[in-house]
Amino acid sequence: MIPFNFHTHTTFSDGIDTPEQMVLAAMQKEFEAIGITDHSFTPFDTTYCMQEKNVPVYIKTLRALKKKYAGKIEIYCGIEQDLFSDCDTRPFDYVIGSVHYIKVNGAFYPVDETKDKQLECIEKLFGGDRIAYAKAYYEQVEQMAKQRPTMIGHFDLLTKFGLFDDLGADYEAIAASSMRRVLKTVPIIEVNTGAMARGYRKTPYPAAFLLRTVRECGGEVVLSSDCHDARQLDYAFDATCTELKNAGFSHVLRFCEHGWERRSI
Ligand SMILES: [Zn+2]
Ligand SMILES: [Zn+2]
Repeated sequence: MIPFNFHTHTTFSDGIDTPEQMVLAAMQKEFEAIGITDHSFTPFDTTYCMQEKNVPVYIKTLRALKKKYAGKIEIYCGIEQDLFSDCDTRPFDYVIGSVHYIKVNGAFYPVDETKDKQLECIEKLFGGDRIAYAKAYYEQVEQMAKQRPTMIGHFDLLTKFGLFDDLGADYEAIAASSMRRVLKTVPIIEVNTGAMARGYRKTPYPAAFLLRTVRECGGEVVLSSDCHDARQLDYAFDATCTELKNAGFSHVLRFCEHGWERRSI
């Protein structure tokens, strides 16, 4: 079992647990370390993001918890930075760079909110052309990489509702070449079981063919469950380690005080 998770959400954004509840759940699972990464604020969405005024409170709260539980569990203060957020990421231990919206002509359309909203965007803005949508999405992931976050979160989030599963090689070529470009700037890719935990997918992000691309390019992976509910802190970690081994990986990365270290799987 992998005893750490560096992508978790709390009541500071759209998680259901307070940071302390998340830490206690991690300790109950005998985790060595936990990273909390609430959503950075964005100017157009106040429903799931952290509010700008709460950022200092968030940092202070996590510092206090780090002190309180020192010697019992390592606690890190990260942020899940949306492409369209101008949150200053310098105070955080590390940054997950994520794309949650497609921006076209100044309007923002959510990628992963509901299947209907994603379909509406594909229809309205791309005339039903899913390949064109995929290209626009991956261009934005590449823009995210240019901001040099520590890792890229849920690389192929657009596949959450299964709308690209039947496109085969046409889609896969776009995703894999985008992955190769992203890895040149950000060599750490998150392997995320969040959509599995919520019943949307049977396999993690990124898909198996993309994991092979990461391996071929010498990229590194961080395993997480994008946890919004403390009961799912290590959701499908064992099965995902098996999948990673099948893709040729022998280790995942673990964050620690001096940066990232390798942990065998
Ligand atoms: Zn996300
Ligand atoms: Zn997340």
